[in-house]
Amino acid sequence: MYGKKLFLAFILLSFLTTCRSPETEKTPLFKPGKKAKNVILMIGDGMGLAQITAAMYSNRNRHALEQFPIIGFHKQYSYNDLITDSAAGATAFACGVKTYNNAIGMGPDTTAVPSILEEAEEKGLATGVVVTSIITHATPAAFFAHQPLRVFYEDIATDLLSQEVDFIIGGGRAYFNQRKNDDRNLVAEFREKGYLIYNFNEDDLSNIRVNPNRNFLYFTSDYQPPSIEAGRNYLPFASRLAADYLSKHSEEGFFLLVEGSQIDWRGHANEGKRLIKEALDFNNTIKRVMEFASKRDDTLVIVTADHETGGMAIEQGSKMGRINAKFTTNNHTGSLVPVFAYGPSAELFGGIYENTDIYHKMRQALQFDDIAEISGALGK
Ligand code: MG
Ligand code: ZN
Repeated sequence: MYGKKLFLAFILLSFLTTCRSPETEKTPLFKPGKKAKNVILMIGDGMGLAQITAAMYSNRNRHALEQFPIIGFHKQYSYNDLITDSAAGATAFACGVKTYNNAIGMGPDTTAVPSILEEAEEKGLATGVVVTSIITHATPAAFFAHQPLRVFYEDIATDLLSQEVDFIIGGGRAYFNQRKNDDRNLVAEFREKGYLIYNFNEDDLSNIRVNPNRNFLYFTSDYQPPSIEAGRNYLPFASRLAADYLSKHSEEGFFLLVEGSQIDWRGHANEGKRLIKEALDFNNTIKRVMEFASKRDDTLVIVTADHETGGMAIEQGSKMGRINAKFTTNNHTGSLVPVFAYGPSAELFGGIYENTDIYHKMRQALQFDDIAEISGALGK
């Protein structure tokens, strides 16, 4: 009698194990604590769960994020506001401090705080930034600049010149070579520093033969790059190009920031259909990055947002492939923000934690020595 029960339990157990195996095969887990040589942080600005779901249901019920084995949530609030802006949100990721809305790479007392990109550069890793906004916009800026206000675009461009970011693609050339606050031509100064510089109106990105030994800067526009609807299409290709370039640029590994900047803007405008196009472009970008990362065992990929934008909901009456989005605000909202992680040390990103912990977890994954006192001194 007892033996029969045991036998049935065994049958049931083996049945359950068989059912589960395809799932676990799809998303390989790395040995916990394995060092990440490379980190790719992908930020879909304003991309909450509704934005991800809308993209998935507009893409035959598939999303590149489904291959990520670890999922967590971060608390997005800033130092002075329960709802962050993109400057404070990016500073939390980049520097590990909660700061006031509008601050770029500075703590609440306006002291500059070192960023993970700067630390990576200092340690000999290659670094890159690929965005669909101006390069000097809040999200990328927090990784290489230190300014009290996000609107200081020309000063942010000057800060970028003082760094050694190896690979840069984004808009906003005007803040480099048509400046109002001084007569400097930063494009020329970047060239003098050894950068190979390319421009949207002269060079097609896909035709450029990239030299992995030279620093690379490609301007996609004079001011903000166009939307997907207006013909922009470079983000998936540029992100993959960046990963390939950076993996050849240094033996030590790399840190790459990729931002789908315009999901947020369509959220502010409450434009559901256009928002979904931007979210689908970001989905394609994740797909391209995962083609790089899934072939190797040394690259940690993290996908998250700084905050949700628009208070977006998928409305009653929506159908698979035909999503109607409804919005509750023209601004950001304060919900928890999802985080998806793949690769070595991905397990660190499960659970619920502060947005500043993303910085600490990335440093832990890269096995950077602990210098938390530097940021701790700034009243974190
Ligand atoms: Mg942004
Ligand atoms: Zn926004």
